[in-house]
Amino acid sequence: MTKKYIFVTGGVLSGVGKGITAASIGAVLQAKGLSVSVQKCDPYLNVDAGLLNPKEHGECFVTKDGAETDLDLGHYERFLDLELTWKNTTLSGRLLRDLIADERAGKFGGQTVQLVPHLTNAIKKSIHEAAEGDVHIVEIGGTVGDYEGLSFIEAIRDFSQEVGRDNCLFVHVVYVPFLEASQEYKTKPAQNAMAELRSFGIMPDVVAVRTEGHDKPPRSVGEKIAISSGVRPEGIIMMPNVNTVYEVPLTVARDLGPMLSEFTGVTTEPDLTRWKNLATRDTTDYAREVTVGLVAKYIDNTDTYLSVTEALKSAAWAENCEVNIRWINSETASDDDFAKVDAVLVPGGFGSRGVEGKIAAAMYCLEHNKPYLGICLGMQTAVIAAARRGGVDGANSEEFGAGQGANVIYLMDGQAGKESTGGTMRLGDYPAVLKEGSLVAKTYGTTEVTERHRHRYEVNKDFAQAIEQGGLVISGTSPDGRLVEFVESPHCDYFIATQAHPEFKSRPFRPHPLFSGLIRAAVLARNA
Ligand code: GLN
Repeated sequence: MTKKYIFVTGGVLSGVGKGITAASIGAVLQAKGLSVSVQKCDPYLNVDAGLLNPKEHGECFVTKDGAETDLDLGHYERFLDLELTWKNTTLSGRLLRDLIADERAGKFGGQTVQLVPHLTNAIKKSIHEAAEGDVHIVEIGGTVGDYEGLSFIEAIRDFSQEVGRDNCLFVHVVYVPFLEASQEYKTKPAQNAMAELRSFGIMPDVVAVRTEGHDKPPRSVGEKIAISSGVRPEGIIMMPNVNTVYEVPLTVARDLGPMLSEFTGVTTEPDLTRWKNLATRDTTDYAREVTVGLVAKYIDNTDTYLSVTEALKSAAWAENCEVNIRWINSETASDDDFAKVDAVLVPGGFGSRGVEGKIAAAMYCLEHNKPYLGICLGMQTAVIAAARRGGVDGANSEEFGAGQGANVIYLMDGQAGKESTGGTMRLGDYPAVLKEGSLVAKTYGTTEVTERHRHRYEVNKDFAQAIEQGGLVISGTSPDGRLVEFVESPHCDYFIATQAHPEFKSRPFRPHPLFSGLIRAAVLARNA
């Protein structure tokens, strides 16, 4: 078939679910038997998402080739079961940096270098490069009308002329507020947003209407938007809040099914069985309900840990149990908090704020045989806890100013002095070899694994003995044996920590073994 392109833009507000909409459309197309590729374009001037504050932007998702990206890439990987790369994330900052480098290298032969056509050409080229599927989905970050985003809007308009307008579907996601006082939905901001998109020469084919609450807004809301925007009624999809984002593919299939068939020319009904099973799971088996304490510092923006919470939920679904996630503020955490949960998870993080609470969490779990999963910083703090128990006074990480003789976590060769610069960490996929017969090898069911990474500091193996005395053994390393990748406690039923980020490889239909292991251990601990 001729390659097709779907462009997803947003109006009124950002953060209302463009990523989930894009991913869900992709999931439905896959369920129709089509191959799908996907790309996120972010208009901000950063070169990647690595240095963005999680408090504002949520999780920094890491791809297998080490791109530090927006959390939407995580939605795409989970919904579409793909492994994405640099190609799938396009940022103004990166494109501009490369354009300016080319200009300095004299590659423009005296031309004036301009946003149109030079930046827009670079955007179009990035779309062609990423478009590997029968259908390629491109999400444009931010909202239409933002200064920064204009080059992207112009580029996709131009692109659609180049490849043929019929081969493109423009989806605009708008927000429709509900006014409590007059008890009505207000479509005016959405109408304005549509007018703005039209003013850039793009007539959308689909309008996805996001509303608050779980009820579908009355038909009249959709009709009003259709009439005022010139979009065909079958192009309007209502998207109220849902219990789980994995319900959205079902909504898309129901409301946009005919349109997607017409657009792709593939009329096969999508096989949505597995999505239906997910959405209609029976969650009444309270005997299998567990509470996992997540010891973290950005508890005011839990999107920072999105892949971790998704991985926990996926594992719980597969284990046919319900998981409650209890946020434990690492700055105020106490043994009392750890005692009240069935398992503890300490996710990744940077900086010293709240780190003592994370060390205390590992200490408690080691001493009370409480199921524990440590991820990246959560491994480093577990190693610090073990070293302290094993007699290393003041054991700490060099990141938090440990003195000589106590830096059980230290800076890797070649990383000194780069603490606050971008793209200098150990990023992306690295293999590890697991110790035969270890808990982690049993949990994975193999001794060779590959996981994603995003870290700068390492376990200092000179302290291996003290760490072992404190209750943790090294159970997985890099193939050359130099770097510690996994530690575990031989004295606890389930205490595993890894330098890697297993959450990035978990999928709703294929949860990660380390998360499944934690959930199983939590169920056992609860019912013991
Ligand atoms: N701050 C630690 C390091 O750089 C841990 C990083 C993380 O948890 N992602 O090594």
